Amino acid sequence: MTPLRVDPLDPLPEPPSTLRTDTLAVTAGRPERVVDAPLNPPVVFASTYIGAHQTGQGELGYGRTGNPTWQALEAAIGALEGGQAVTYASGMAAAQAVLELLGTSAVIVIPGNCYLGVAAAVRERAAKLGWTVREVDVADTAAVLAAADGADLVWLESPTNPTIQVADLPAIGAALAGQTTLVVDSTFATPLLQQPLRSGFDIVLHAATKFIAGHSDALLGALVVADTDSERLRTLSSIRSSHGSTPGTMEAYLSLRGLRTLPLRLERAQANAGVLAERLGAHPGVSLVRYPGLPDDPGHQVAARTMAGFGSLIAIELVDAETAERFIDAARLWVFATSLGGVESTFERRRRWPGESPTVAEGLVRLSVGIEHVEDLWSDLAQALAAVR
Ligand code: PLP
Repeated sequence: MTPLRVDPLDPLPEPPSTLRTDTLAVTAGRPERVVDAPLNPPVVFASTYIGAHQTGQGELGYGRTGNPTWQALEAAIGALEGGQAVTYASGMAAAQAVLELLGTSAVIVIPGNCYLGVAAAVRERAAKLGWTVREVDVADTAAVLAAADGADLVWLESPTNPTIQVADLPAIGAALAGQTTLVVDSTFATPLLQQPLRSGFDIVLHAATKFIAGHSDALLGALVVADTDSERLRTLSSIRSSHGSTPGTMEAYLSLRGLRTLPLRLERAQANAGVLAERLGAHPGVSLVRYPGLPDDPGHQVAARTMAGFGSLIAIELVDAETAERFIDAARLWVFATSLGGVESTFERRRRWPGESPTVAEGLVRLSVGIEHVEDLWSDLAQALAAVR
């Protein structure tokens, strides 16, 4: 075969700009297409860079300000969400950067049920800074809109951790865009199932620790904003530099590597979750199943209309805490571990955490469905349920 003849200094043709998210997950954030460039971004370990301070040009002076490996991941997450991403040391570091935007006496709306680390961070700042905190059910759009009246920031999470409630983000965005700062933690949806910036949200948060990295081996967070050249973006980056809440270079590399297979992993995990949710719903030992893919789930209609899939998180309720713990102990394949979104199926009883909302049932078990064979996953759940009857 005749090799493609190009001038080594000329860039090779770029991929088309109208790509679907599954393709973008593979292509976005790659190095410039020049001859002999690595196909994917290499890991760049550097605490300092040459040239920027001496010449006044370039953007990388010191490792707390930027890193080419972070930038590649940021380009990829930004391309998927339709904005520009800033990455942080963890999902919580990203959340704290958003909260840092608010001064004293702020009014903030948060979900009554959301990730407990975020709820705790909001309460801590509220006590110090005299904030008013309004808690809402994110699935109740009218309640969200009412609570947003006069609020400085509306923080939503959808689907929620651990109750798997679904917010109507397009309706909320349409009603509130431009009136307040609209933030959504979209970790459970991943950048593939919803893109809230397109619905008027100002900031999207991902705990990339979960689905984006996807292999339970890295901590990383990301914020994405719509405007690639905005004051908000500069402020969020400068909070990262001044707090030193920078992602590890290796973690950024692992997250981008994980992102490349997110469409495949999510497709499989989501298909598994659909089968398991249905079977769990029919099981006499399970009193309640929350999974938006089930036609009678309270979040089904909104999820079907606003999301590209139902995700792979399921909440089930067993009769009480003790039964839930015995069920978890009886499982052999499912791993009792906190966190979610990895290739491995994991589960935990959320109320074992003292900080979990008292509105979450004592017997609620959150299942993060992985990519194993669905029949193996079901056999293990079925035998564990049989063991506690
Ligand atoms: N947001 C959600 C929905 C989460 O589930 C978590 C962690 O479980 C976080 C944010 C925080 O992410 P991290 O653990 O990377 O700090």
